Amino acid sequence: MKESSSQVAIPLPWQQGIWQRLMELQEQGRFPHALLLSGPAGVGAVQLAEALVARLLCQMPGEFACGHCHGCAMLASGYHPDLMRVRPLEKSRQIRIDVIREVNDFVNQTAQQGGYRIITLEPAEAMNQAAANALLKSLEEPGGRTLFLLMADIPSQVLPTIRSRCQQWTLPLPEPEACLGWLEKQLGDKEEAEFWLQVAGGEPLLAQALASPQARGLRQDMRELFDALVRGGEPVAEAARLSGQSVDSILWYGIAWLEDLIRLGLSGDTRRLRNPDLLPLYRQAVKNARVRDWFRLLDYAREQRRLLAQGANPNPPLVLEAWLIRWSALLRS
Ligand SMILES: [Zn+2]
Repeated sequence: MKESSSQVAIPLPWQQGIWQRLMELQEQGRFPHALLLSGPAGVGAVQLAEALVARLLCQMPGEFACGHCHGCAMLASGYHPDLMRVRPLEKSRQIRIDVIREVNDFVNQTAQQGGYRIITLEPAEAMNQAAANALLKSLEEPGGRTLFLLMADIPSQVLPTIRSRCQQWTLPLPEPEACLGWLEKQLGDKEEAEFWLQVAGGEPLLAQALASPQARGLRQDMRELFDALVRGGEPVAEAARLSGQSVDSILWYGIAWLEDLIRLGLSGDTRRLRNPDLLPLYRQAVKNARVRDWFRLLDYAREQRRLLAQGANPNPPLVLEAWLIRWSALLRS
């Protein structure tokens, strides 16, 4: 087997098992014509999908795409005539029916390179009802050697008519042993890898992102803010130190820390904390409020984050302020 070039998409190390199962299906001629891939964002469903696209469009594939043939070269150039990628238009956050009509036209043509035709659709839950209805027939009878590759963050939000026509594959959280070696290579340090994997709740790509200098800066700012609030700081004034930061990221940390606080409050067990370095702050915080109140604040943070993601809240800084006011009220009570 020729060595793959470094630009070729290959599965991540912890995806070996699922990759082998997919390849077996393909060798046995039992490969599905519609796959719905999902899993936590930081475990790499997108990377697996890209590896699969590359492997199926490669004209001389080995275990992975070869990286040298005409098919691989076209894919690397950013245009392959037998690949169609569907994403929401930027602002609408929706995949609309006119785009799905183009998909249907694409499916009705023959593959130009004589191999697979692939349609990637991401995220699948962005299809509105009309778009989903328009896709059903193609999804049911796409013709030979066609693959619909759907990706979903929340598969339960994909319309059931679509889901039932796809084979669903959910990527699990990898075992730490399966991804720590990779993460250590990215971060250059074993202890760092262990720490950030824990902070990221076991999602290796998220751990890598959180360990980047900019993300570390945000975590440090949040930690200082938490410390100030525990000492009785004024929340609106303290919010200023986070100005310009993504409110979604701030709430993500807030949620993770509240989950830690609840774990600590319920069991007193410090071993399962995702942020063990925050234990002194947690200890101060659990003195003042009851677990029931932390649960309420957690629900509030999750709801606000969901609304922000839907674009339903026009003023993220106000969301941040309101959340900090509630948080500091609990720390003082
Ligand atoms: Zn190739």
